Amino acid sequence: GRHPTPQQGGPQGVPGIKRIIAIGSGKGGVGKSTVSSNLAVALAKQGKKVGLLDADIYGPSQPRMMGVSGKPTSKDGENIDPLTAHGVTVMSIGFMVEEDKAVIWRGPMLMGALQQLLGQVKWGELDVLLIDLPPGTGDIQLTLCQRTNLTGAIVVSTPQDVALLDARKALDMFSTLKTPVLGLIENMSVFHCPNCGHESHIFGHGGVAAEADKLGVPLLGALPIDLDTRLAGDSGTPVAAKEGPMADHYSAIAKRLVD
Ligand code: ADP
Repeated sequence: GRHPTPQQGGPQGVPGIKRIIAIGSGKGGVGKSTVSSNLAVALAKQGKKVGLLDADIYGPSQPRMMGVSGKPTSKDGENIDPLTAHGVTVMSIGFMVEEDKAVIWRGPMLMGALQQLLGQVKWGELDVLLIDLPPGTGDIQLTLCQRTNLTGAIVVSTPQDVALLDARKALDMFSTLKTPVLGLIENMSVFHCPNCGHESHIFGHGGVAAEADKLGVPLLGALPIDLDTRLAGDSGTPVAAKEGPMADHYSAIAKRLVD
């Protein structure tokens, strides 16, 4: 058949792709997709060949955040040609479903779709493929970790207690599945008032660093709440594609990730 057969034995890699890094979170809305798109762009700016796979079935944001529209095509009816934006090869599960339509797929359908995206997309040679996971610890995350040879996972959280609580569950899942945790990223860690320079810790302070410490994994970065980040994401040109302090933040994280 044309679909990849269920893999026997251990987790498998994808030919041509050197590293596959999953980006997860416990809760939704903490900035996992924002971080994924910006890291992808930062890595591409550093000359890396980067792919970004949006596997967030419940809220695929990458078409919007990366500014890619249209549908990927297939010349041979089997292999899918991905789209490209800001130097990044992009594929989204959002391309396969209609916008404004609820996705009511069962686990096996989701996994079929994800396996297709991994196996049938013409990624080409990549230094790194980032996978923007759905939030939480569901079927997709579980099966992906078990079937695909991941280099590791990154967990994004805000410092807020409810976010951290869920982030711990995600971290626990990765540890149970023996997926190495490459590090944590604290998003929305502080707000610098543009008028008076005052710092507010709107979602709390220090929780993600403490968690990283406890687990003995690196805190890869702490990103402020930033208007440009939000505007840039909405406009389809991630803030990392521009010059400025946010681009520097992302560039520093990207360097730690793949050097
Ligand atoms: P998730 O993927 O975790 O659901 P998103 O990346 O979609 O979260 O982010 C949720 C919202 O928060 C988006 O509107 C995004 O633009 C915004 N956002 C994310 N990170 C930041 C930040 N550091 N500063 C300001 N807004 C942010």
